[in-house]
Amino acid sequence: MSTIASISTAPGIGGIGIIRMSGENTFKVLDKIFRAKSPKNIEEIPGYTIKYGHIVDEEKNIDEVLVSYFKAPKSYTTEDMCEINSHGGTVIMRKILELCLKNGAELAEPGEFTKRAFLGGRIDLSQAESIIDIINAKSDREAKEGIKQLEGFLSEKINEIKNDLLEIMTNIEVSIDYPEYDTPDITNNDILSTIEKSRIKLENLKKSFDNGKIIRQGIKTVIIGKPNAGKSSLLNAILKEDRAIVTEIEGTTRDTIEEFVTINGIPLNLIDTAGIREAKDEVEMIGIEKSKKLAESADLIIAIFDSSKDFSKEDLEILEIAKNKKSIIILNKIDLEQKITAENPKLEVFDKNVINLSAKNKIGLETLFKRITDMFNLDEINLDNDIVITNERHKNLISKAIENLNKAENILKDGMPVDIIAISLKDVLANLGAITGEEAGEEIINEIFARFCLGK
Ligand code: GDP
Repeated sequence: MSTIASISTAPGIGGIGIIRMSGENTFKVLDKIFRAKSPKNIEEIPGYTIKYGHIVDEEKNIDEVLVSYFKAPKSYTTEDMCEINSHGGTVIMRKILELCLKNGAELAEPGEFTKRAFLGGRIDLSQAESIIDIINAKSDREAKEGIKQLEGFLSEKINEIKNDLLEIMTNIEVSIDYPEYDTPDITNNDILSTIEKSRIKLENLKKSFDNGKIIRQGIKTVIIGKPNAGKSSLLNAILKEDRAIVTEIEGTTRDTIEEFVTINGIPLNLIDTAGIREAKDEVEMIGIEKSKKLAESADLIIAIFDSSKDFSKEDLEILEIAKNKKSIIILNKIDLEQKITAENPKLEVFDKNVINLSAKNKIGLETLFKRITDMFNLDEINLDNDIVITNERHKNLISKAIENLNKAENILKDGMPVDIIAISLKDVLANLGAITGEEAGEEIINEIFARFCLGK
């Protein structure tokens, strides 16, 4: 394969920068541009060595660098590789990259280093995908899931299911091809029990996706309510909660801020209209239309009302929005005399999801968090022991595998010959193989690696 080069550190100025090369001519290219302080033949330099020296262009020094040597197959890509640690200026890094290219390397495509690790058999496709997740992780939990996947926990689980099915298929095929051999006949019950066992495992993986989505993105939560109901007070109370870990992330629209908060292990992605906390006047502009729009894409709506006043026309419209979604109704300002209580007939449909609270006095917050935990079954997420699917592609393939398992089961129950079952089981294996990569088409593989950043 060709020798590729790329700048692997983020664009911009930094203390150091790393230019990476991989491929069979790596050390030949390096030899032309690197003068080590104590030169040695490449054969004498073991892998995982760092050498000090200069990058030169026609014997003129370009930069003082450290070069790490990695020798095939013990490298990120499984090929010969080097990493040039230069000073972190854009001009220097570009110059060094140019020198690599001038001396025989080709510019790497996004994700090409990782793609080679996959093609070299060091990692499977789901592990390669987890590398993107780790790079993009916004929370500890998300990074943790990525690392688990990189370590191969998902692949192991998938391979376990594949092996069980393969064993059944082999037995079926032997009994079809060599009926004269005295092989122990595989019974329909054996097949059924393997199908059932595999299906339970796959169903569990599939179910974990919803939790996986929450871990990745947090529960997308929008607080709605008319001006002065107490939206900002509630938001501040949540954000100031001792155990809240807050990460500000850029909102998807210009006028919103998204805040990733983890409270008692509950990841909330709070969508906040920038105006709420900045200028009081803007609050008036955030009308029903805006709430409707925000509510559309939310996983959870927190609708807040000033319970010391009767429902106004605007409040009733807000209740309408909340009715169509997973919602929690907050009766705020319970420290004042209440005009609206949880028993109000207009709140009947919300049942247990009506919470008395005082944002100002921080009363009722624990009840709110507990309600959210129950609503999303978050107690069931056991991150350390369970495998959580976080990738939509994996979820879809698992769903297809389950469908094909069901097909096989029906064929069997209809009393059709076993060789027809083998066809459906082969489809299941193909679905699972596409997760780990042996059965993923080139197009899919290319599309996955194109999502990587340059230099990875
Ligand atoms: P927003 O317009 O919905 O964001 O409402 P704010 O959070 O700005 O609150 C409006 C007013 O209600 C402020 O003067 C708050 O201090 C007050 N407020 C908020 N929560 C409570 C509460 O629980 N009890 C009382 N008495 N006042 C509150």
